[in-house]
Amino acid sequence: MSEEFDSKDYWRSIILYGLNTATYKIALAKCLYNFTKEEKTIVSMHDLSVEFFKEFKIRLENGMPQLYIPGRQTKMENIVQRFNLGLVSEEEAISFVENNAFVDVVPRFHTVNNASIPTKFYEYNKNGLILTDSVFEIFSGVDKENLFNEMISRWGLLEAAFQLKNGDTKLINDIRNIYLSKGYERQNITGTIPVLNGYQKGICFYCGESMEGHDIHVDHVIPRQVIYHDDIWNLVLAHAFCNEQKSDALPSIKYINKLIERNEHFIASNHPIKNKLILTMGKTIKERKNYVYKVYNDVKVVIPYTWEGIRGYNPDTDEFYKSFIRSLKKW
Ligand SMILES: [Zn+2]
Repeated sequence: MSEEFDSKDYWRSIILYGLNTATYKIALAKCLYNFTKEEKTIVSMHDLSVEFFKEFKIRLENGMPQLYIPGRQTKMENIVQRFNLGLVSEEEAISFVENNAFVDVVPRFHTVNNASIPTKFYEYNKNGLILTDSVFEIFSGVDKENLFNEMISRWGLLEAAFQLKNGDTKLINDIRNIYLSKGYERQNITGTIPVLNGYQKGICFYCGESMEGHDIHVDHVIPRQVIYHDDIWNLVLAHAFCNEQKSDALPSIKYINKLIERNEHFIASNHPIKNKLILTMGKTIKERKNYVYKVYNDVKVVIPYTWEGIRGYNPDTDEFYKSFIRSLKKW
């Protein structure tokens, strides 16, 4: 492996990458930061619960959602609310946090893209956490301020995304119903691989790198969970690991434009699927483009935050992330 990563890179990968369905990881990161400020190495589960509760109590003053699922709350939102209403004492709240909040986040904090990163910022057992030198190192280094700001802004970003998702539940349901009523049973889509590859020539749709020697997935560019069909205009080939990064997110407009170009290429080259594409999407380039944009904009209401590509930045220019993901596969 030629790439070298340091503790700071690993920390940033925890904060920035992956799909967070709740804000627990960021909250735990903030607690770790607080403990380094107090020069606290051994943290009991009780200490952690006190800190975690304190962080959420402050954070929730902004009234923003902490969970991806509309209309539902995290256990932390629930307990802070009950505490604020006077239904539980602080002691009871903290004890609830200790027993309920950490089951997932403590063991999974170091997991990025389904792999465990090699640098650990704490060790843990049932009694608590032992902070490692790595976490003290990054928060006393020259980048400490950037790392702190990045962590806080990520928390805000997630809340904003969840807020959008919570937006208009009725509209979301209406759109789901429209596509659901048009949908049909899942087809066997592996048969589309040769057709798709004729265009892609072994290059991943999302990262632009060779797929040779890697697992390949057929991916629904606009997620199937919303549009309920396997029409080939919406299918591409991608690395399994790029596909997993994308997950059920909606990709950004640059990938939609790329998809439109790909489909026009099929039509221009008189590919056998040409007629099917024209039948579904329209006779002219303009009609077909509008067709895809219409679906995209509808689905955007259901999945309001888009996936910007590998890492959430520009995958075309981001060598760091690409090499990072490649190296993760080798651990
Ligand atoms: Zn890829």
